[in-house]
Amino acid sequence: MSEFDPGRFEEEAHERWIHAFESNPSNLEKFYLTVAYPYPSGAMHVGHGRTYIVPDVIARFWRMKGRQVLYPMAFHVTGAPVIGISKRIAKKDEKTIRLYRDLYKVPQNVLDEFVDPLAIVRHFAGEYQRVMTACGLSIDWRRRFTTVDPTYSKFIEWQWKHLYEAGHVTKGAHPVRYCTVDDNPVGDHDLLEGDKAEVVRFTLVMFRFGDAFIPTATLRPETIHGVTNLWANPTVIYVKALVDGKAWIVSKEAAEKLALQDHTVEIKEEIAGKDLIDKTVSHPLCGEIPLLPAEFVDPDMASGLVMSVPAHAPFDYIALRDLQQAGKYTQIKPIPLIKVEGYGECPAQSAVEKAGIANQMDSRMDALTQEIYSAEFSKGKLFEKYGGKPVRVARDEVAALMVGKYDSTIMYEFDQRPVICRCGNRVRVKILHDQWFLKYSDPAWKQQVSDHLGDMALVPPEVRTEFDRTVDWLKDWACTRRVGLGTRFPWDTTQLIEPLSDSTIYMAYYTIAHKIREIDSKLLTPEVFDYIFLGKKSEDLPEKRKLDAMRSEFLYWYPYNYRFSAKDLISNHLTFQIFHHVSIFPKDKLPAGMVVFGMGLLNGAKMSSSKGNVFLLEDAVSEFGADTVRMFLMGSAEPWQDFDWRNELVISTKKQIERFYSTIMEMKDAGGEPHDIDKWLVSRLQSHIERTTEALNNFQTRQALQEAYFGIETDLKWYRRRLPENCDGSRELHTLCSIWVRLLSPFIPFTGEHLWKELAGEGLVSFAPWPVADKNLVSPRVELSEELLSRTVEDIESIMKLIQLTPRAITIALAPEWKHDIFRMIAKSADRTTVIKEIMKDDAMKRRGKEATDAARQCTTLIHRLPPQVVAPLAQDPINEHAVFEGAQAFLEHEFGVPVHITDAESGVHVKAATALPFKPAIIIE
Ligand SMILES: [Zn+2]
Repeated sequence: MSEFDPGRFEEEAHERWIHAFESNPSNLEKFYLTVAYPYPSGAMHVGHGRTYIVPDVIARFWRMKGRQVLYPMAFHVTGAPVIGISKRIAKKDEKTIRLYRDLYKVPQNVLDEFVDPLAIVRHFAGEYQRVMTACGLSIDWRRRFTTVDPTYSKFIEWQWKHLYEAGHVTKGAHPVRYCTVDDNPVGDHDLLEGDKAEVVRFTLVMFRFGDAFIPTATLRPETIHGVTNLWANPTVIYVKALVDGKAWIVSKEAAEKLALQDHTVEIKEEIAGKDLIDKTVSHPLCGEIPLLPAEFVDPDMASGLVMSVPAHAPFDYIALRDLQQAGKYTQIKPIPLIKVEGYGECPAQSAVEKAGIANQMDSRMDALTQEIYSAEFSKGKLFEKYGGKPVRVARDEVAALMVGKYDSTIMYEFDQRPVICRCGNRVRVKILHDQWFLKYSDPAWKQQVSDHLGDMALVPPEVRTEFDRTVDWLKDWACTRRVGLGTRFPWDTTQLIEPLSDSTIYMAYYTIAHKIREIDSKLLTPEVFDYIFLGKKSEDLPEKRKLDAMRSEFLYWYPYNYRFSAKDLISNHLTFQIFHHVSIFPKDKLPAGMVVFGMGLLNGAKMSSSKGNVFLLEDAVSEFGADTVRMFLMGSAEPWQDFDWRNELVISTKKQIERFYSTIMEMKDAGGEPHDIDKWLVSRLQSHIERTTEALNNFQTRQALQEAYFGIETDLKWYRRRLPENCDGSRELHTLCSIWVRLLSPFIPFTGEHLWKELAGEGLVSFAPWPVADKNLVSPRVELSEELLSRTVEDIESIMKLIQLTPRAITIALAPEWKHDIFRMIAKSADRTTVIKEIMKDDAMKRRGKEATDAARQCTTLIHRLPPQVVAPLAQDPINEHAVFEGAQAFLEHEFGVPVHITDAESGVHVKAATALPFKPAIIIE
């Protein structure tokens, strides 16, 4: 017998698969699936592996089901990250060089070329293709492209022309996340930390301090009436700066930020924070107040100084209380100004006291603050002396008053910190002028997206709310950058289209990618793409025959059936692509479905290349074999669940594949006549086929493996036990081998191809027909009988374990007919609480008295425990238990090595026989 040798199986299969998965339109029904194309700036780890293997398993499944399947791949090289990487490599940055040389194992001569950013993406695109191929991905590589190919840029220009004409592209001033080192706006992909941070609009309240202003940022300008003091950090060095010609005192960080937000800033002198303490400031709406010391004030938050409203802000209340408990500033009293139901005179005070909070460090402080803010905003009202208006009205009015009369202005800041760029710099909020935006805020556009989302298949269904929420809150998106790789913005060629904006409809481009290459990109006018994708005819189209071929490819493949991606892309890419599709394509070419993945963990911790917590996919494949990697990734969790890679578990997956291999090799030539038990095995196999198919129809890779691998393996164990002595099994096993190999081939295609050849299967297993369950081979009664037998064997085994003595004989006592009657009545009844009364109305039962009510109660318990698929047939028609056990007598005696007697429970053999129930005989071991 040939050895289990995954390396050899891989070699064999790769040779046979060359060009096999190149897919062209045919008369078959198509299945087109895509996955987010990778940004090839580093080596793939096992987390990436799952992202591409799930769609591959699904692609292989549908291919075997007889569909024309297209699974393409390309490389997304747009943007600034590789430029930063190549700059750092040019500067000989140790950390970067270590990552690329030691973790990603880039040879020195290649690394030397990385001073050119394109060399990085060229190298890793090649690596990605090599490793994806090693994993057995059934990709049509003819359609590979990168997003800096000239033909792709022409396609993007066409896309943007449509977006522009539809009014979705605008220009304006806008606050954006910005890196001053890269001198570029920062996208989600460019962040090391803080990807959840949002830009918030604060009002700066300008307190007069001698000849200068001290600004403090607030989201609640109406609380100015309750300010009792400002907080300044005595350990911080502040600056006095001329801001738009007026003197302000702010933190150094704030001065830097204000300069990014349309202010001229000129720093004049430094002022120690301690020198501000106990000085006085004033504001027309609150009068004179002191500056108090507080080390919790963060110079990197807004202006670096804070106004204190102890009556309504828990942090302020506690900070003041702490000082007062030390005997300082005892003259200051909280000044309430908002009445809100359910809270006392001073809401902050009552909430803090009710929660029993001792100090500012209490972890409940943020939640408490949020609770009070929300309560006051939704149902609070200002006191009559401050105008008596609801907070939600007063807030905007006070802000407008301050801006109009009291020198206030707006400052943008993140709602959480830190926000760190990939380059290591702190990200700031900058107001960009002449910035181009995609108007995702447009309600009409949002509505189009919502309407289409309603028609899409989303897997798992729970992600629908997340998509809805994203559509709802999406704001205008800064869609161009000054630095990076990519397509020039058609109306301003100093700008480039940023990565999340040039990757939204490329799934359509795949359909023509291998053909459009044959046309000179200079000829690719918008009219050409209008013809290919929208069927709009115009004069003088070049290369008409080639265009027609592309048009028919597009019409055949589009729309895609499913798009696969990680769940963290819902808030941008996955939603953006729907916005773009609805704007450009007709209804029948809009995306049909999406499957969203969970995240990958490595030994329980989040995988992260930058933190070095990754296991490279290539290393995994060479250490364990591609099939093992695939089967582990598909079997350890459903695609939308998080999975955890642990080498020790992966090893046991490898053993499972080896077991499968040797079982097939042992069984494939079995040729004996079928026994009774073959009928059972064949019947069970039909339901495994059905359930595996059902699971893969629903993308449940783990469930499918449970059925296809473990379900069949467990059956085979029982089957082999039940075979007569000296018998290896019948010719039915050959059929089972053929089915089993095909069911597992989408998961372990290398072992699958090898075994398929061993089984003398026709062609490649990758294109072999997917097994279909044959209803005529299903024998429910046979399965039920075998279920009774195997349950009884388990019962005998557990009793033997308990009594721990060498038995001389086993007696199986079967329940009498009247208990079967009771069992059936209970199993059939809709109301199990009254059924016992019903049973006891029968005269014969009445005569049995307590014996009958006991049996009814025991049957009820048993019926609860048995699976419904066992109870339902028994309710209709009992099985002949005598025949089952008599037929298995020789088997039982062989199993347990003692004589086995089968008898009626009421034959008086043993008192214990009275416990016999239908489907649960009494077992007496002597
Ligand atoms: Zn940066």
